[in-house]
Amino acid sequence: MECKSNFFPTLDDLRLEGTAQEEFHEKARSTRASIFSDRVFIRAVVEVSNYCRENCHYCGMRRDNRALDRFRLSSEELTRNVLESIPDSVTDLDIQAGEDPKGTRELVLPLIQHIKREKPRLGITVCLGCLDYQIYDELKSAGAEIYIMKYEVAPEAAYKRFGAPVTWSERMKHIRWLSDNGWRVSSGFISGLPGHTDEEYMENFKVAQNLKLHGCSVSPFIPGESTPLADQKMGSVTRVLNSMAALRLMHPLWVVPAVSALSITDASEGYVRGLNAGANLVTINLTPPDVRANYLLYKRDRSIMTEEKIFRALDQTGLVPSLVSQSQFWADSHREAPSVTSCS
Ligand code: SF4
Repeated sequence: MECKSNFFPTLDDLRLEGTAQEEFHEKARSTRASIFSDRVFIRAVVEVSNYCRENCHYCGMRRDNRALDRFRLSSEELTRNVLESIPDSVTDLDIQAGEDPKGTRELVLPLIQHIKREKPRLGITVCLGCLDYQIYDELKSAGAEIYIMKYEVAPEAAYKRFGAPVTWSERMKHIRWLSDNGWRVSSGFISGLPGHTDEEYMENFKVAQNLKLHGCSVSPFIPGESTPLADQKMGSVTRVLNSMAALRLMHPLWVVPAVSALSITDASEGYVRGLNAGANLVTINLTPPDVRANYLLYKRDRSIMTEEKIFRALDQTGLVPSLVSQSQFWADSHREAPSVTSCS
């Protein structure tokens, strides 16, 4: 599925503020509307394990963080507390974990099989890190359709500098393998990592442009607790919002998530800002409250989105929930996207 426009961002686009920024975001919104109308995907995320064998400098779940209480949810917790509480507005479930092959095999695979039996219309996304190719096949056979694998930070030298997972070439190999082997792949990068130069930052867009993706995210760097970058400054929200609008303009058909980390006052306000910059996916968190704080991507006091906050954000932006899952949308998209002439 290809749908590229001729747009490619400049550094000036990423620096826009005031009226010029508003016009840039308006263009992104009207591009989104030309494909998705006023529909936004509502996804639920459940974080099933915080074990991780990687050691990314920007993440609190890195293996060197020995102070973190590690957890794997039990199957009972998942079926009792999580699956039964999925709101009707949710069309997709995103199962996330650190890079934890044991948790993937013992917990995620049976969970997907269970969901496909009990809630067959729910689209399944997984975000589980770089695993053996055989496990990817097993996850797909079980019913997962979308794999989130971010390239985190480009170019390769920066990737290495921030201790991102495996190696750059290995990560790229996995992303390409997934998209060549029947997965719909969403990738993404972090904005505002300390010492990441503007020139390096622009490489993120070139990488995104050259991968076969169905979605791409950008999230602000947030200095994580118990990480080597804990004392650094958070990334600029303006840069993230302009990058989101740029991704929408580059690839009108992509799913671009709004991230709650964009908020200044509360999580739903962050989603409003993301949706106004052209995003078309919002996420409700269903991880059980007793372990949520230990899913320590950044800080313990995370902004947690609920269905009520999501609806508030949609009301404020004149948007409504999608009636179909992302995968169903992609399956239908050859009918839904005829207005973009560069789609092929
Ligand atoms: S970013 Fe992902 S791979 Fe890296 S340490 Fe955190 S959970 Fe592990």
